[in-house]
Amino acid sequence: MKLNELTIDQAQEGLFRGDFSSVELVRACLARIKKADSRIKAFITVCEKKALNQAREADQQLRKGIKKRLLGIPVAFKDLFVTEGIKTTAGSQVLADFIPQYDATVVRRFKEAGAIVVGKTNLDAWGHGSSGENSAFGATRNPWNQEYVPGGSSSGSGAALAAGMCLAATGTDTGSSIRLPASFCNLVGMKNTYGRVSRFGVIAMASSFDCPGCLTKTVKDQAAILEIISGQDGADATMPDQKVPDYSRILSQETGSLKIGLPKEYFNRGIDNEVGDLVKKAIRKIIDLSGGEIIPVSLPHTKYAMPCYYILVPSEISSNLARYDGIRYGRGRDKFGDEAKRRIMLGTYALSAGYYDAFYLKAQKIRTLIKRDFEKVFSKVDVIMAPTSPTLPFKLGEKTNDPLAMYLSDILVCPVNIAGIPALNLPVGFSKNGLPVGMQIIGSQFSEEKLLRIGYTYEQATEWYKIKPKI
Ligand code: GLN
Repeated sequence: MKLNELTIDQAQEGLFRGDFSSVELVRACLARIKKADSRIKAFITVCEKKALNQAREADQQLRKGIKKRLLGIPVAFKDLFVTEGIKTTAGSQVLADFIPQYDATVVRRFKEAGAIVVGKTNLDAWGHGSSGENSAFGATRNPWNQEYVPGGSSSGSGAALAAGMCLAATGTDTGSSIRLPASFCNLVGMKNTYGRVSRFGVIAMASSFDCPGCLTKTVKDQAAILEIISGQDGADATMPDQKVPDYSRILSQETGSLKIGLPKEYFNRGIDNEVGDLVKKAIRKIIDLSGGEIIPVSLPHTKYAMPCYYILVPSEISSNLARYDGIRYGRGRDKFGDEAKRRIMLGTYALSAGYYDAFYLKAQKIRTLIKRDFEKVFSKVDVIMAPTSPTLPFKLGEKTNDPLAMYLSDILVCPVNIAGIPALNLPVGFSKNGLPVGMQIIGSQFSEEKLLRIGYTYEQATEWYKIKPKI
């Protein structure tokens, strides 16, 4: 197998055994970027020189027998994570020449574990989008079929990882943006519990929703990374003092017999047949492997999730983006794209005197009802399973003229963000025309270990991650 196609776990073994060097591994990723990224557009910035220098240092440490957990492993960061000395654009012209003075906590923790930064990945500007088409630097294409979107807003991270340009890539999930690209690109991606991973140094979209995390090739890699990036940093005051479990060690423990909730609102007529069939097949497989039963459940306030999300999120966006008004910072309001402008206007309206009670406050109350729906269900079941996206990946341009159709891509994922709970996207197979399909396993607050264990059991029996796109 080519070095850039290895999982982190496999690459690490090879590096520690001395089968190959970090320089060779990084070169393999850089070669892939050179060969394919003019078509895929996964990266906004590639750090070739820096990455090779870091790899040389990693090789020295490897020769000395130093064993850091990501030593010599090439990774990419969504261009929403600030990186010291490396341009960070948020996918917008507003920050086209912004060079941060410090690293986000997530970035710092990756570096402390020995990871190598190959570059910064493309995204829908500020994280606003589900397809990658809202980037000011051109739309990313899906490596599985370049006429299709890779899912957004962490579009570049999904495409870069699926195309073998790095071994892991960060994302942020405010309403879908880790799980959707993971689903569209045959990858593992987890939206962590709100407050599990620090938001410090992640350019804010909607502060009470934003959840930084990672896309990986496997559940095993996901567990290893979550262990590194989780836990308080003293810089994000919304993080509870919650112990970080030894995720990778717990991974292979048995899940025990499972009570799996299937919400009737998530399996209705709107689901593409192929998606529905593959997800149900995966659920049956999990029951075969772990034992357990399906329990029909209801999340009655699901129908209010999209309206609730599109009041609260734009409200927080309008407040967060006000700092780039060009008066204090930024390059002037004319540099914002259409989607950011739309959300600034929506949010400013929802928060304005006279409308606040009717919109913002009402949406906050609905947020509580949606959270309670999940709490009630989790008193009866261990986890919920559902498709990640109601449809297969769609074509570039298919939804760009219809913002509401685009928003509906998130209908099955955004309730999880409203409730602040975790959900893991797992690859569950391919459609007849060769496009990946993902399923999400949703759990109660801080149940990441349970989700990872179920995912790992399924992954070992199916190994979808071994199938690679031809580009
Ligand atoms: N697609 C959603 C939106 O446009 C979610 C984005 C995200 O999770 N960053 O708001």
